[in-house]
Amino acid sequence: MHNELIKQAQRIMQSAYAPYSNFKVGAAILSESGTIYSGCNVENAAYPVGSCAEAGAISAMIAGGDKKIIAIAVAGKGTEPCTPCGGCRQRIREFSTDDTTVLICDDKELRLQTTLGKLLPMSFGPDNLQ
Ligand SMILES: [Zn+2]
Repeated sequence: MHNELIKQAQRIMQSAYAPYSNFKVGAAILSESGTIYSGCNVENAAYPVGSCAEAGAISAMIAGGDKKIIAIAVAGKGTEPCTPCGGCRQRIREFSTDDTTVLICDDKELRLQTTLGKLLPMSFGPDNLQ
């Protein structure tokens, strides 16, 4: 299942709209229902208005009726592994646990397998507002 998730992230990365940075990113989420949702980064001439691939995938997941992330794959090129930005770690946290699998890959292969708890330790989440 992880291989399929990685493939989806790599595929959607090609669709990214990144004319300014030329840094295309794709994300694919395996939800609790078994459905895979994907998204890509969408830049904007007004830079701060652009959105991350993870945000797009989460939006697709919510629109599809799912609310729990089992695993997420993020695909991006570069010398360093394309880990989710700080904002996206918090976005993923909303629908995940510390054990949620995060797969970081480029256009060719898996580069890093980790968990949300390692990327965002001692996080603030929905439980804090109970
Ligand atoms: Zn982000």
